[in-house]
Amino acid sequence: MATERTLSIIKPDATGRNLTGRINAKFEEAGLRIVAQKRIRMSMADAEAFYAVHKERPFFGELTAFMASGPVVVQVLEGEGAIVKNRDVMGATNPADAAPGTIRAEFAQSVGENSVHGSDAPETAAEEIAFFFSGREIVG
Ligand code: GDP
Repeated sequence: MATERTLSIIKPDATGRNLTGRINAKFEEAGLRIVAQKRIRMSMADAEAFYAVHKERPFFGELTAFMASGPVVVQVLEGEGAIVKNRDVMGATNPADAAPGTIRAEFAQSVGENSVHGSDAPETAAEEIAFFFSGREIVG
């Protein structure tokens, strides 16, 4: 399987509970390398642009307000099959459905406040990485 990069976000519910290091340990234990990382505060405009694909969904307002409600840690994860591997480490969107040992099973608070975002396909990974990072900020 090819080496890939994927975009990860540690969401405000997790940064607020000081879980960045414990979540990063899950990525590293799964063989994912954190090749770029920064802590930022997304504006509402940032959140609306990043989640534009969801703008018709009933939870769009709640999701964007949540993502702009506190600091996030945006990251590029690299590894073999990194996109699917990261989705496996994250667990299902709703923590009630997330497999034991996954980030969302251990840390998420609800379907909305679910601690992490991860790209779902190669095309979205490339777009989402470029949304937050320039090439010189990613050091593999
Ligand atoms: P993901 O790829 O597993 O993150 O899930 P989706 O792409 O389906 O949804 C994107 C994000 O929207 C999720 O991670 C949640 O933070 C949020 N979300 C999804 N469903 C709901 C919902 O029913 N209510 C709320 N408030 N947020 C939701």
